[in-house]
Amino acid sequence: MVENAPATASSTAAETLARPDHDVVIIGAGVCGIYQLYRLLQMDLNVTVLEAGEDVGGTWYWNRYPGARFDSESWSYGYSFSQEVLDEWSWSEHFAAQPETLSYLQFVVDKFDLKPHMQFGCTVDRVVWNEGDRAWSIHLADGRTLTTRFLLTAIGLLSAPMMPRIEGVEDFNGQAFHTYHWPKEPIDLTDKRVGIIGTGATGVQVIGAIADKVGSLTVFQRRPNWCAPLHNSKISEEEMAEIRSRYDEIFARCAETPGGFVHGPVDERFFETERAERLALWEELYDSPGFGIWLGNYREVLMDETANAEFNEFMADKIRQRVKDPSVAEKLIPKDHGFGVQRVPMETNYYEAYNRDNVELVDIGETPIERITAEGLRTTDREFEFDILIYATGFDAITGAFDRIDFVGVDDLKLREKWDNDPISYLGMGVSGFPNLITLAGPTSGSVSTNFPRGIELAVDWGTALIRHAIDNDITRIEVTPEAEERWMEHVRDMYGMLLLRNARSWFTGYNANFTRERRPRHMIYAGGNPRYRKKLAEEASAGYPGFRFE
Ligand code: NAP
Repeated sequence: MVENAPATASSTAAETLARPDHDVVIIGAGVCGIYQLYRLLQMDLNVTVLEAGEDVGGTWYWNRYPGARFDSESWSYGYSFSQEVLDEWSWSEHFAAQPETLSYLQFVVDKFDLKPHMQFGCTVDRVVWNEGDRAWSIHLADGRTLTTRFLLTAIGLLSAPMMPRIEGVEDFNGQAFHTYHWPKEPIDLTDKRVGIIGTGATGVQVIGAIADKVGSLTVFQRRPNWCAPLHNSKISEEEMAEIRSRYDEIFARCAETPGGFVHGPVDERFFETERAERLALWEELYDSPGFGIWLGNYREVLMDETANAEFNEFMADKIRQRVKDPSVAEKLIPKDHGFGVQRVPMETNYYEAYNRDNVELVDIGETPIERITAEGLRTTDREFEFDILIYATGFDAITGAFDRIDFVGVDDLKLREKWDNDPISYLGMGVSGFPNLITLAGPTSGSVSTNFPRGIELAVDWGTALIRHAIDNDITRIEVTPEAEERWMEHVRDMYGMLLLRNARSWFTGYNANFTRERRPRHMIYAGGNPRYRKKLAEEASAGYPGFRFE
């Protein structure tokens, strides 16, 4: 094909355009980018993956903090697309730790020889839509520019860490890390005085994992979360063989539950049961591994204030039973939100950590942090000295990863500006004004509220089919229509309306304490559940993509 060849009667539309360097560029080599690359290579396309890290893994490459592990059952988290991978890979624990998950992803990448199609240490600064060429220009921090017909984002939903907006963060003389940037080299915690800020899912994992390894641990908590026991355990060879024999059943089960987990809500209705029956179910869930307590509960617990309040009391009593000092227990019981409306941190020895003499809980709701100092930090009440400070302060979820890249679409429209109030999209997969961009795991996508690989396999398969449709039909420009976007966002808002999480201050509504300016609550996820999302995607494809304009 000749670049800029003039159109002839027999030319295809693609042949009349300047040929970009690549048919497809994928940004990100995590769980999503790996699978997307695999699929596109099967189509024999010219694809490259640009990854900021020095290796594959995404979330599992970066989050090396002590205690980092799945809250999904390992065997429900692995990819389902390859029988060979399912046959060959054995999980050692029901909820595998970060090093094992990273090895798993490396195994998949090596197995399908994907690395030659990936470029590491590549930070994408800016992407610009070029209408004349119907292609994206991708500008990298190293000065290079690539061009591509289709651009696919696999940039993670929790990949833009937020440092605390507290004065003096630069002044601390000891070691300090955001959990996302935990160093690759081992950190010796023995006898160290450690302070940690943040008690979300990450902080809760860290605290449970290090309390018995450090000299002292001071936890700075503003708003407690409702945490539930993970009940992790090893998987023997025999058990792995048994799990392997049930993979079809496991994935079928994940496909029918709202969260894409093996846990789905019970059929019984909260208000039609006796209290004794409810208590019996809750005791059973509390003693069972994984997210059952959150996702295998009565539906009403997540939808109805009365049901939620009754379950809160059950959970509060569990905290009181596990934490010896009643005043500490009370501080650990959330008062500002009900169970499950924020992401439930799964814990191992978390509450017991507060029974140790070397662990102190500081309620910074009562005595706020004034500043970080050279030696540690100062609250309105006291000075603290530390050797290590850990920031488990969360993320600018989903849109944060997009905001770091300057996306410039049709007529110089900036994605950052389009999403300033609410991240508007269609099916979480595309955005009007940004042609040939597929936002895998974008805001309002079902995959961001689902056991991630289950959701992302769906999104990748759908996006791949859309690209195939374009190529097979000589379509060089695909763009979401504003009408489709509007309809979708209305539906997204309706789905939020059904769940109590609509009011929560959590990343589900785009909350993080550290934004420099106040942000309105946002619609970040698809709250309608995995089966409904799959149906929406299938309907769009089978109707010939009416929400898109093709040229
Ligand atoms: P997070 O849930 O947003 O929690 C951040 C914590 O830091 C909150 O307790 C927050 O308190 C506190 N914080 C933030 N800024 C602060 C400040 N300036 N001063 C004092 N406290 C501050 O973040 P995360 O724990 O990293 O979890 C994020 C998500 O990652 C989870 O919801 C989950 O989806 C995912 N994750 C998954 C796993 C897993 O699969 N096993 C593990 C960890 C995380 P306030 O709420 O009071 O602001």
